[in-house]
Amino acid sequence: MTDSFSNLSLAPTLARAVAEMGYESMTPIQAQAIPVVLTGQDVMGAAQTGTGKTAAFSLPLLQRLLKHENPSTSPARHPVRALVLLPTRELADQVAQQIKMYAKYTQLRSAVVFGGMDMKPQTLELKKGVEVLVATPGRLLDHIEAKNAVLNQVEYVVLDEADRMLDIGFLPDLQRILSFLPKQRTTLLFSATFSPEIKRLAGSYLQNPVTIEVARPNETASTVEQRFYAAQDDDKRRVIRKVLTDRGIKQAFIFVNSKLGCGRLARSLEREGLRTAALHGDKSQDERLKALEAFKKGEVDLLVCTDVAARGLDIKDVPAVFNFDVPFNAEDYVHRIGRTGRAGASGLAVTLVSPSDTRLVGDIEKLIKKKLEVETLQLDTRPAGPAPEKWGERAEDRPRSRAPEGRRREHDPRDALDAPNERRGGFRPAPINRDPFFQKPYEAAVSETAPSWEPSGPKTVRSSISANIKPKRKVAALFKSGE
Ligand code: AMP
Repeated sequence: MTDSFSNLSLAPTLARAVAEMGYESMTPIQAQAIPVVLTGQDVMGAAQTGTGKTAAFSLPLLQRLLKHENPSTSPARHPVRALVLLPTRELADQVAQQIKMYAKYTQLRSAVVFGGMDMKPQTLELKKGVEVLVATPGRLLDHIEAKNAVLNQVEYVVLDEADRMLDIGFLPDLQRILSFLPKQRTTLLFSATFSPEIKRLAGSYLQNPVTIEVARPNETASTVEQRFYAAQDDDKRRVIRKVLTDRGIKQAFIFVNSKLGCGRLARSLEREGLRTAALHGDKSQDERLKALEAFKKGEVDLLVCTDVAARGLDIKDVPAVFNFDVPFNAEDYVHRIGRTGRAGASGLAVTLVSPSDTRLVGDIEKLIKKKLEVETLQLDTRPAGPAPEKWGERAEDRPRSRAPEGRRREHDPRDALDAPNERRGGFRPAPINRDPFFQKPYEAAVSETAPSWEPSGPKTVRSSISANIKPKRKVAALFKSGE
């Protein structure tokens, strides 16, 4: 078989770890990238998370680092040789865990540093010496400045999820970090799509890269049923309720374009008796993780989120995605609906279209090259639901023209971007493309709590957040997650 790991002549220590992982054959990105990385060439890879990308770069990288393997306890004998940069701490943690497993029978050391955690334990680990360092850019810079991390012997750098790093505004940080690395090195860049910004980044930092592409950009999964319903702003919540009830859907993501709208919608839904959590860029990392956990445990049925806040969530295959707002950027549409209907599971993506959204829907049509029909959903005259008495409150909770918490316009573009405060105005975020962030399939709790629009039942508690992530203090939002 051409895609067998045995064709790679991996060192026995690595081959043993791979065998233990139960991998039978290489995934397409592995079959293409591993032989190239083994030769030391630069790579520009288009591949999503979930494709086996981590092994695609880390196995050949570890193989090439084996020449430095040594049992010495001296930190000087274990300088950083490979640096893997990722945009969020969840991703950094996941990648670091995989690398640890692949390297477990070698004497190569690896460590992960990301923001939102005490620097001291990370510092101790760095001071002992590690060959492979996985990091988010902001926190790595902190360690560089504190002289905890010395990068002058780095031979390999991996810019993973590069498009997300640019979206978040990490370009200046990346540029700084790369300036500390030796010029003579191998650079591997992975991105969901090759936007002009990514090509520019590659042009500046990669040398004659081999391009590897395993996923076509902007393709929407054929397993997703896409529906567009005409709805005035005031009717959108009713449409959501109706779809959930009619389809018997238990959980869903609801996307909005602004932080302000996100909080407001979550509060409205909550008042209507729906178990809802909001995720946006002003939420602390701690709050984000709690909301995600609650969703995974089935304690929350609806997760209202902005595009940026949702990016770090390690969850996919959610039964339904609602676009409460049509995204300003058509590529966000692809990105949003990518959270449902994966891996053969059928998913539903409902977009609520108000009269002023015609142009935005046109942009989506152009991008996905598909004629979209905006339907009208017949709403019941009396809203159905388990808490009819609560519907009386709706009148008080209509979108307010003067929101108490906001002095800015409702559709302030800064809200729409949900961008980190300190980074606004600087680097212009690249268009957001496909969502490569969902590592773990959506798994409803075994005997799940019934959604709040259905009679309630028992629930099972599950946790999938790594033991590594123990927020010690509140940190500012997703954007600072890498700091
Ligand atoms: P990644 O895209 O690197 O995040 O990998 C997604 C998941 O696929 C991880 O849980 C890996 O352990 C798993 N995986 C990676 N390579 C293979 C393979 N060749 N066969 C089966 N599973 C794999």
